[in-house]
This record gives sequence, C-alpha cells and structure tokens, in this order.
Amino acid sequence: MHDPVLVIHGGAWAIPDDMVEAHLNGVRNAMAAGWRVLERGGLALDAVEEAVVIMEDDETFDAGRGSFLNRDGKVQLDALIMDGATLRAGGVGCVERLRNPVRAARKILSDSPHVYFVAEGAERFAAEHGIPLCRNEDLIIPREVERLREFQARTADAKVDLFAPTISHDTVGAVALDGDGNIAAATSTGGTLNKAPGRLGDSSLIGCGCYADNQTAAASTTGWGEPIMKLVLAKWAADRVATGSLPEWVAAEAINYLKDRVDGHGGMILLDARGRFGIAHNTPRMAWALKTSKHESYGIVREN
Ligand code: ASP
Repeated sequence: MHDPVLVIHGGAWAIPDDMVEAHLNGVRNAMAAGWRVLERGGLALDAVEEAVVIMEDDETFDAGRGSFLNRDGKVQLDALIMDGATLRAGGVGCVERLRNPVRAARKILSDSPHVYFVAEGAERFAAEHGIPLCRNEDLIIPREVERLREFQARTADAKVDLFAPTISHDTVGAVALDGDGNIAAATSTGGTLNKAPGRLGDSSLIGCGCYADNQTAAASTTGWGEPIMKLVLAKWAADRVATGSLPEWVAAEAINYLKDRVDGHGGMILLDARGRFGIAHNTPRMAWALKTSKHESYGIVREN
C-alpha cells in the first residue's frame, strides 16, 4: 500500500492580488474533490479527473465555463488525461459544446481504441457515450466578452505582446499517486486569449502539457503553449526523473530549459510513483496545492 499524493495547479502568470483568494479557493476545492477519491482507496486516474472537473466548473480558471474567448468570440477547449499504469490516454481538442472536456477525455481513455478526438468528432463521441452537450454560449461569461473586446481594441492600434507572462495562463491540471502505486495526470484549458480558431496548445497534447508513466513520472504544465510544445516538456521532465533525478530538481530544470531554449514561460507540477514531487514556475505567481497523508499546503507566490 502506498501513501497517496495529489498535486494540483491552477495556472501560472502574474495573478493579480484581487484574484489570489479565488485561485486559492479553486485549488483547495479541487484538492478536496480529488483527495476524497484517494482517501477511500480510489484510482489516481479518478482523482485527477475529479480535481480537474471542479476547476473546469470554477469560472476563475481558463478551463470549462469562463475560459478565454478565441478571435471569433467562442470558447474552444482542450483536455488530456493519462494513466501511468497502462499508458492509456484520452484527449480532446477544439471542443465547443462540452462543459467538462476532461470527462470526455476520460471516456476516450476508457472506451475508445483511439487516443485523441477533435472538434465535432469529439463532441459526437462524448454525446454517444452519455455526456450531454451544451451550447457554446453556455460557456461564455461577461468577464471574458469584455476581456476580448478590450484586448482586440488594444491590439488594433498597437503591437501587444500576446504572450507576456502578465497575460493570464489559467490552465488547470493535477497529478496523483494512489494507494496501488499508480500515477496519473490531467490538464484542461481554454487556451490563449484571442487565439485563432482551431489553434491547439500544449495542454492536451501527450508529452507536452500532460504525461504519465509509472516508470517515469506524471506531469502537467501551464503557460505559453507554443514553446512548451516545441520542447515536449512534460515528457522531457518525466524522462529525466527516470534517470534518477529528483522531481523537485527536474521541475525547476524544465522551467529553466523552457526559458533558456525557447524563451518560454509557465509552470509545471511533477510527481513520480515513489511520491516525490516538484512544483516550479518562472511566472510571478502560480496557484498550486499539495496533499499527502501527512502534509497539506497551498501556494501562489514563487518561493525563491
Ligand atoms: N498552455 C495553455 C495553452 O497554450 C495556456 C495556459 O496554460 O494558460 O493553450
């Protein structure tokens, strides 16, 4: 029997002071839901799914309802879930009618011989497997309509750095170790503000924004997706853990590599099957939560 561990993130960026409480509450609620699964002997896979569902439902985050809008004013969501015991994975990209894309991703993992579905095909798969579809408008909130309007007005006459760390990166993710010694990871996002329709980021791509293998580690990332994709950063980090490096060091090393190699920014949570974990970011803040049977902590400010 292993001691369970759950690590959660709720985005890495310059989270403003007046949003700190909402972020901390969000990761706390997600922790409570995920931990309930682990404490009654449930699967790491179920724990990361339940934790991510809570954050998809929380409008604080760029996942599910309340996500950033794309250039056309629509919500387009991506999510991935992966099981470290079997390497089975399920991903959805560019879905517009799912409140909880991670639920559809989980169905793909469990019920499909395939790994990844996009757009209408993903929605059709979800509907055929009992997941109700919503309207895209049901996922849009006034705050995001205003944010997009303001952003588009600003970028119309000035060159704005689309990927400055001050721009919100509120993707959510979780990594877990269960009592049987299996690890899992899940990541869910609305992507980047004003993204081109059809643009897919790192979050839902295996090895980029999410990865899990009992023999290496489970990882979930957040931040500017394109640089993370170029480095296949979640897999990069997991592989380094397999060579014997501590997840704590590897997470920090991965974020340094992201900065040095492609001038990227973001954050990562990393966990191996021995329960060793790492949390790192090079943005001013990252919302995170950690729980073991002996310890529980929540954070938002970078510790230097
Ligand atoms: N990584 C996500 C993406 O590029 C965004 C984020 O983490 O906020 O789609």
